[in-house]
This record gives sequence, C-alpha cells and structure tokens, in this order.
Amino acid sequence: MEPLPELIAAMALVDHHCHGVVGGVLDRAGFEALLTEAAGPGRLGGSLVDSAIGLAVRRWCPPVLDLPPHTPIDAYLARRAELGVAEVSRRFLRGAGLAAVLVDTGYAPEPDATPAALGEAAGAPSYEVVRLETLAEQVAHEDGSASDFAGAVQERLAEAAKRPGVVAVKSIAAYRVGLDLAGERPGSAEVVAAAGRLLAAPGRVADQVLHRWLMFAGADLGLPLQIHCGYGDRDLDLHRCDPLLLTGLLRGLEPTGVPVVLLHNYPYHRHAGYLAQVFGNVFVDIGLALHHVGERAGVLLAEVLELAPFGKVLYSSDGYGLPEHHHLASVLFRRALSGLLADAVAADACAHRDAARLAGLICGDNARRVYGLPAGPESPDAKPRSVNCR
Ligand SMILES: [Zn+2]
Repeated sequence: MEPLPELIAAMALVDHHCHGVVGGVLDRAGFEALLTEAAGPGRLGGSLVDSAIGLAVRRWCPPVLDLPPHTPIDAYLARRAELGVAEVSRRFLRGAGLAAVLVDTGYAPEPDATPAALGEAAGAPSYEVVRLETLAEQVAHEDGSASDFAGAVQERLAEAAKRPGVVAVKSIAAYRVGLDLAGERPGSAEVVAAAGRLLAAPGRVADQVLHRWLMFAGADLGLPLQIHCGYGDRDLDLHRCDPLLLTGLLRGLEPTGVPVVLLHNYPYHRHAGYLAQVFGNVFVDIGLALHHVGERAGVLLAEVLELAPFGKVLYSSDGYGLPEHHHLASVLFRRALSGLLADAVAADACAHRDAARLAGLICGDNARRVYGLPAGPESPDAKPRSVNCR
C-alpha cells in the first residue's frame, strides 16, 4: 500500500476556481499588494510578508526557484526577477500538478491573463467561469430599455454558455449587497423596475433583485452556479457573507437541479459544510482561505469535513495575480488532506483503501462530476510529476 502523502502528492488536482496571473516583474510593494486581501501594508509600518501566508511562501516557494526554504523575501524577489515572469509562472503552475483549471474571467489581473494562458502555463486544459454581474453590466452599458434588459441578458448568457470551454457561472452578490437574499425567483415587474434603476446610472450591479434574478437566469442554462461566500478583500462586508444567509435562496434554487458551489466560505466554512450536507445540490470549497492560513490549512479542511460529505468538497486555489498562490494552495491542500486522512487511518477510523478513494473525490472527481469534465487525468504534462510537499 502506497503511503497517503505519496499517493496524494501524485494526484493531479482540478482547480475549479482561480484567476490569471500578472505578466510584469514585481517589486516588493507590488508583490505585497498581491500577496494578501489587503491592498498593501498600512502607512504605520509592518510587512504583509510577516504573516501566515508570508511564512508559507518563504517555506514552499523558494525551492521551486532553486533557492533554499525560508529564503528572505528580498533575495527571493531578486531571483524571481532574474528568472523572468514567464518562467516563474510556468514553474509554479506546472509544479502545482493540475489536471484542469477553471478560470473566473470576470476579475482578471490584466487582459492577457486568459484561461488559455493559465492552462498553457499549467500544462493542463483550461475552462471558463462566466461572471453573471459582469455580463449584466456589459448589457447595461449598451442601448436598450428596462423592459428589454432581462431578455438581452438571457440572450447574452445563452451565447456565453455555447462558447467552447464555458462550464459554469458565478455570482459576486456577496461583494455588492451581501448574501441575505430572498429565496424566490423575482417576478418580471420587479426585474424591469430593477433594470430601470441600473440603466438610469449604468455602473456596477448592486441590487438584491438583480443578483437573485441573475442566479436563476444562470441556473436556467443548466450550468453549475458558483457563489462567492466569506473571505475576500475589503470591498465586501464580511459579516454579510455568511453562506447560511443563502439558506432561503438555496431552497429556491434546489428545484432547478443545478449544482450550487459555495466558494471560499472562511470563517464560515463550518456553516458551508452544514449546507453541503443538507442540500443535495450544494458543494463547497475553502479556496483562498486555505493557503492564506498557511500551516493552519489542515485545521480548516478538517472543520469543513466535520459535516460536509467527502463527495461534496472541491479543491480550488482562487489564485489571483501571483502564481505562488496557485502553487501554495496545491502544496498546503495536499499536506492538509494527507495529514487528515493518514491520521484517520492511523486511528483505525478509516481503511487505507477508503482514504485513497475519498482523496480522489476531493482532488478531482467531485469537480469532474459537478462541471461535466472529461474523466480521469487529462494532461500527460501535469499528471506524472509528484508535488513536493515535504
Ligand atoms: Zn475568485
């Protein structure tokens, strides 16, 4: 029997939610600005590198660039610049050992950061997640009346769904109005009135009616619906992003039959685990938070799996801007999952063969089922390498 850490290090992961990376060389300030959810260190001093994620970067990323673990950050950034951004991205993304990447194109660090570019760097097939609000905002900026708005958005969504590689839609209601949304599908008069408000001052969609309606419109296409929950930058009010606030809406969406995937969830990840247990069509991840907590990643994963069935948990990095994020998430996730399962086997709480099977579900098979991706390892490039997590 192969030990679980080796087995899981060799499994190719489906990263079911991430973003592109920046193409230019980053100085210390630029790197720190992308490292955490803060815009940068405060004016009163202190470095964002002196944090759980900063320590994790210094532990796991320097070896990928041929440096010893724990290299000081300035020497690390000098090596990063010396290698060049393309090579750095390629090393981190290949090193993440990915079977596929699903890229949210509604929030890209720069126009070149396409799903295809990320997939090429990762040596894995790439897919696209369409952001509902971005699409609606594009329609709002075009000529059209409030009464035509819903039809125009539905038409644009249907076109997007037919584009090759589009596998899901996503809502960022959390960022705009929070998640305390009514459960019913809005009626057409309500939608026309809300569209009228948006068209009067076209900008960002930030309207309870429109966010709800967009989620139902996405579900009508039969595509899985990703919903941002919990942790994010300070554009959101975190106390309004508890996924439990979605309970009514999850009841409303359930009859559509589409998978609803709750993203990130921290610090409400236990709440999300509960929802994944009681709603047959609800899936969860702890992307973003998992690598931001560094060595605490195992605790987070264990807390999600207190209630969430193994068949309902997905892997994502939510990597954005820095390819270190995509890499670090993979390393810390593998360490967390193998630690948790190895402990269960050691305590005779789980058989080794079950642990191996459950790991396969979370590493990729759940995502393949949710998004209808081809079965099994898809990239000969990404598969055979084992990720160094020790
Ligand atoms: Zn994201």
